[in-house]
Amino acid sequence: MPNPKNTLQPDSIRSQLKAKVSKSVWKLFETTATCADNLKMDVYLVGGCVRDFLLDAEALDWDIVVQGDGPELGEAIAAKLGFKIQKKSQFLTCAVVLENEDKLDIATTRSETYKHPAALPEVQKSSIDEDLFRRDFTINTLALKLNGENAFSLINKYDGLEDLNSGLIKILHSKSFLDDPTRAFRAIRYEKRFEFSLESETNQLLKEAIDAKVFDRLSGFRIFNELKRTLQEKRPVSYVQRYKEIGLLQCIHPNLFDPTSGTKLLNKIEKGLHHLKDTPEKWKVYFLGMLYSTPKKSRQPCLSRLDIKGKEASFFQESIESVDKTLIALDKTEDIDPIVIYEALHRLSDEAISLLIALAKTEGVKKAITSYNDYYRERAILKVNGGDLIKLGFSPGPTFQNILESLKKARLTENIQTKDDEIDWIQKKFNPEKS
Ligand code: ATP
Repeated sequence: MPNPKNTLQPDSIRSQLKAKVSKSVWKLFETTATCADNLKMDVYLVGGCVRDFLLDAEALDWDIVVQGDGPELGEAIAAKLGFKIQKKSQFLTCAVVLENEDKLDIATTRSETYKHPAALPEVQKSSIDEDLFRRDFTINTLALKLNGENAFSLINKYDGLEDLNSGLIKILHSKSFLDDPTRAFRAIRYEKRFEFSLESETNQLLKEAIDAKVFDRLSGFRIFNELKRTLQEKRPVSYVQRYKEIGLLQCIHPNLFDPTSGTKLLNKIEKGLHHLKDTPEKWKVYFLGMLYSTPKKSRQPCLSRLDIKGKEASFFQESIESVDKTLIALDKTEDIDPIVIYEALHRLSDEAISLLIALAKTEGVKKAITSYNDYYRERAILKVNGGDLIKLGFSPGPTFQNILESLKKARLTENIQTKDDEIDWIQKKFNPEKS
């Protein structure tokens, strides 16, 4: 829910900001302001961080723009504080790398023009007002001046504050979605994250952009990037549902994600992920869930449309195939032997195991997967290695693999705890002279 700060006087903003950030970030802001003063440039905090500050939400990145020259200001800050600076390929942008390897991005105020719908923009230096106007939604156009006469005043040029107060996601001009259709995905992300609504004209223009098929001109890479960011949100299931409902997933592929079976599966994934010891890459698990609830024949076309290629594409395809095979293997037996469980699961990635947990239907299969995850997986980790086998007199070769695999299985069913236990077991079962 929106909770914008009541007191927006510069003094009050200054003290609230100081209370919110760590000492080192505050020092960085002060140094940034001094350096900008010296260089006669105006410098601002801008975008999502100002929005999140006003909402009292956690702001992870502090984005700075400077009316002047970003890299020049960055050099001055880095020199003063003894930090490194990283030049970026983006237009007049750099990052100051702090002691803890955190980065402060510094950009130069710029405006953008689009030669045709969905094209990458052409950029040129501009005033702060123009820089704010190129942004996606009014709530992201708020800025806080860090230096000079009006330091810590809020720049609210495009009524972002009013929309933040009313909980509205609103574009800045009617061509916004045509210029950059990724904004459609971003709109829904903010709508869901903050429980805001799309302002009515924005809603209408988003639908028109979908009908006009502007997404066909957008690269898969850019769409996938937005989808990934959505799947990295805390609870992304309702976001995906909304994408489907509004027709955005259909712009990727008409069959991507069956809303009925898919929502059930994603909800199970969400529930399961909160109980997991090992942390898989959560967005990958959700994406696997989306693909799983897509007809088989449409999966590869979905991956291709999103420019997912090579190893990454194989990861998703193979995970789904092996999850299906594993379900069949585990479904066959009632009381599942630890070795069967280990053999069925040990080649699966953490992400595939998370999908498997969500798909498991019988209690027996669920128990088998959780026992692997919570216990057998760790039990099968050996304390001896190839070097130990050489010391025991074995020669490197195929026997090594055989000994280590057999020992892993033995650890699952026998009382083998320490490295000495393992060595005893090897010496009893294998003879170096025969290796
Ligand atoms: P999040 O809170 O999800 O990290 P953010 O609001 O910080 O999001 P970023 O994607 O990190 O957003 O981008 C930073 C700022 O750049 C945004 O607040 C917005 O002002 C601007 N921006 C990002 N993407 C676009 C876009 N496609 N079109 C216009 N402005 C954009």
